Amino acid sequence: MSVELRNITKKFGDVVAVKNANLKINRGEFFVFLGPSGSGKSTLLRIIAGLDDPDEGEVLIDGIRVNELDPSQRDIAFVFQNYALYPHMTAYDNIAFPLRMRKVPKEQIHASVLEVANMLGITHLLSKYPYQMSGGEQQRVALARAIVRRPKVFLLDEPLSNLDAKLRVRLRFELRKLLHDQLQTTTIYVTHDQTEAMTMADRIAVINKGEILQVDSPSRLYEYPANTFVAGFIGTPP
Ligand code: ADP
Ligand code: MG
Repeated sequence: MSVELRNITKKFGDVVAVKNANLKINRGEFFVFLGPSGSGKSTLLRIIAGLDDPDEGEVLIDGIRVNELDPSQRDIAFVFQNYALYPHMTAYDNIAFPLRMRKVPKEQIHASVLEVANMLGITHLLSKYPYQMSGGEQQRVALARAIVRRPKVFLLDEPLSNLDAKLRVRLRFELRKLLHDQLQTTTIYVTHDQTEAMTMADRIAVINKGEILQVDSPSRLYEYPANTFVAGFIGTPP
């Protein structure tokens, strides 16, 4: 599905969290919002998810306003930084949960859970409870839970920021391969990490103080930064 932002503005009191954002994200694209802390990335993502309303403007999913879509029709999955698994459920039950809620037949649930667990390399964790798993393992389970119902649009808000450096690097590649190459999902990914953005994205929107400063491919951003903020932010190692 394509996602279009038209003149989106969002304020919190005097703070303009998002200032007149205009953007079209193509179907199947791996799109990254890159900006420093407080630049408005999460606010934008919440608005795209329909979890928050903008003060002005609209979000179109395949040409239809997101707030006119019934939540069950939205087909959008959201993974936050602080992925919360259900603590009293095993990994298997956590992943199966969204399908059980949709009354998917039991055999089909079983097949889907195994398939997605296989993709993420977590079949050995399925009988474990969250407290028995490391942060990285829990994060994979959270991703599996979001992926299992095959959303058309996948929104991820700094999903790797709590993981150790080695796992973070590995998951960058795995996530892109899975979401972009295998599932061909439209992915909107938020990060403050330049390297993450540059290695994962088809296109990047650099955002600062609520304003989208430039939207371009990683190589074009690097070669032709639109202004000194973009140049500094892209060029400086994290
Ligand atoms: P980012 O995700 O890029 O770190 P956010 O979208 O969380 O940035 O925040 C953008 C700005 O909006 C910040 O100044 C933040 O303090 C403010 N903000 C975000 N959410 C709220 C809220 N619910 N109430 C008040 N201010 C908020
Ligand atoms: Mg944020």
